[in-house]
Amino acid sequence: MFQLPEPNQDAFWFIFSGKTLLQLRHQPGMLQAQWQELTFLHHYADRVLPLEPHQDTPCYIVDMGLEQPDQDLLESVSLRQALMAEPKEAFGVMARAWQLTHFYRTHRYCGQCGQAMTPVNWEYAMHCHQCQHRCYPRVSPCVIVAITKGEQLLLAQGGRHKDGMMSVLAGFVESGESLEQAVHREVMEEVGIEITNLNYFHSQPWPFPHSLMMGFTAEHAGGEIRVDGEEILHADWYDMDDLPNTPPKLSIAGRLIEHVVNRNVQTGT
Ligand SMILES: [Zn+2]
Repeated sequence: MFQLPEPNQDAFWFIFSGKTLLQLRHQPGMLQAQWQELTFLHHYADRVLPLEPHQDTPCYIVDMGLEQPDQDLLESVSLRQALMAEPKEAFGVMARAWQLTHFYRTHRYCGQCGQAMTPVNWEYAMHCHQCQHRCYPRVSPCVIVAITKGEQLLLAQGGRHKDGMMSVLAGFVESGESLEQAVHREVMEEVGIEITNLNYFHSQPWPFPHSLMMGFTAEHAGGEIRVDGEEILHADWYDMDDLPNTPPKLSIAGRLIEHVVNRNVQTGT
């Protein structure tokens, strides 16, 4: 189906087993090797799928499904752990490798007629040869917003953040909704306040499993904070020079918080 790499050509390999990424025990980080060296993979030759090159080096995905090779050479790392350990430029290729793996896994059969689908070899897609239905990798838009009130920032503890981490608000965009409408709706649903001066910040793919986070800043316009105690456990205004535990800067949440805090320092001096 797809052409395998030359046996002695260096390539990056993204090998997934369950939800973990396999790496070489003696070489932490992205697995770079020649096909001829990866003998444990030869049994999976028909599952090798190409990705576009990273730093001029070919990249391939191999999905072992739930199988786990019995190899002392290998170790399984969670995707989150792997992403944290890599330099920023590797984030995109690793995120894409996982999103595509997840896409191929969940689109093996046609949603329209039920026949088996096959990967298209010139674009990232799955195609049904029975009814010609074609599916593309899912990207789920998600808005995330840092809301300020004077020198204070709104932070909330989500129901899933049992570790006490406080962050800015986020939520998925619904069908038929603009990004701006999604921000206003999410903020009203989660903390019951109105916002103004909504401004776009940056975006970031977030492969858990296929979100595209779109960041905004906004200011409080009216209303008192109220939370439902389930989706959001707690939310409050925090002085920007004395914030609680917030997400790392690898995530757009961390960078949004850093951005509004720096802006506050600059306008305050
Ligand atoms: Zn079909």
